[in-house]
Amino acid sequence: MRLICLVLGCMAWDAWSANQVVWHPKARTFDLRVKDVPLEVFLGMIKAETGWEVKVEPGLQRVVSGKFRDKPAADAIRLMLGRVRFAFLPRVEGGTRLIVYAGSMRGATRAVAAVEQTAADDGNPDEALFHLPVKIHYMKSRYVSINADAKITDLRPLFAGANEIWGQGKIRFSPGRPEQLLPANVAAEKEFADLFKPNVPSAYVRLHQSRILHRMIPDFPDRGKVFRVVVLYTMPDAFGAVYMPKKGVVLMPQVKFAGLIDKGGVWKDGSPVFFAQSNILAHELGHALGLPHVSTQGNLMIDGRLREGGGVGPGTKLNEKQIQAARAQAKTGGPRVSGINPQAGD
Ligand SMILES: [Zn+2]
Repeated sequence: MRLICLVLGCMAWDAWSANQVVWHPKARTFDLRVKDVPLEVFLGMIKAETGWEVKVEPGLQRVVSGKFRDKPAADAIRLMLGRVRFAFLPRVEGGTRLIVYAGSMRGATRAVAAVEQTAADDGNPDEALFHLPVKIHYMKSRYVSINADAKITDLRPLFAGANEIWGQGKIRFSPGRPEQLLPANVAAEKEFADLFKPNVPSAYVRLHQSRILHRMIPDFPDRGKVFRVVVLYTMPDAFGAVYMPKKGVVLMPQVKFAGLIDKGGVWKDGSPVFFAQSNILAHELGHALGLPHVSTQGNLMIDGRLREGGGVGPGTKLNEKQIQAARAQAKTGGPRVSGINPQAGD
């Protein structure tokens, strides 16, 4: 917010709050509706939405406007930037770097700061679209196995991927600014950390992990009214993410589980793991919207144990009945939490 005020002097806030950049990471296309936005603000929106690293040559002045859907990334950026030059470069750490410059690439020395888009869908012509804010919490802990580092997981690309899937239901999730979260119970925090010790049998972990997590994650007073993702560092036993239906919380480890940390071990924008993980986030948000498991191959809500074939994570398809049920829940503005906002089927 502060950056925008610096750039635009705040007065133009209303004018640009209706601007929207939507990234579809699997198709690698943009939907875009932008009017008279300074170049660096536009690039900041691109960064916030895609999770890319964006660098610009200092002093480049341009005001950009454009409106289109499903435009491949390079075409979209070319249309917006006009004669300003750009390049996409892969990053060693994974993901994409966008370089914007006038003369030579080496001139692009300034890292662009992310510019968050407003969650409000003011000016959105699509009235059928449900826009659901999601609160993001990073678990803070003195145990490294629990303590989540906001710097190593960029949730934006994950949400972009989940939104690409939920687009078929006209439901869009908007992650808010990450906040820190302390464990609700220090004894449970220690018990959970102890599950990572080398001699703990995995049967013991499976038996107690869920119970301990339920004590460690707080009961938020507004549960059932607010969608939440709680991020912790890793798990002693694997899952990509899980919806905790009594808490109204999607719990996500940054590293899928402690035994499988490879080089870096974190979710990377653009990697095959990332795509799988955005499927998993979309699946858990499906549970948050009240959808149970199904046995249909290729469906977003397939029971993981019934899934056939290779790859990681569920399919992406939703049937009409699932879409109607999810939209009925989305209409309440909050996730399904048993005992708080029960619907048929609870
Ligand atoms: Zn599930």
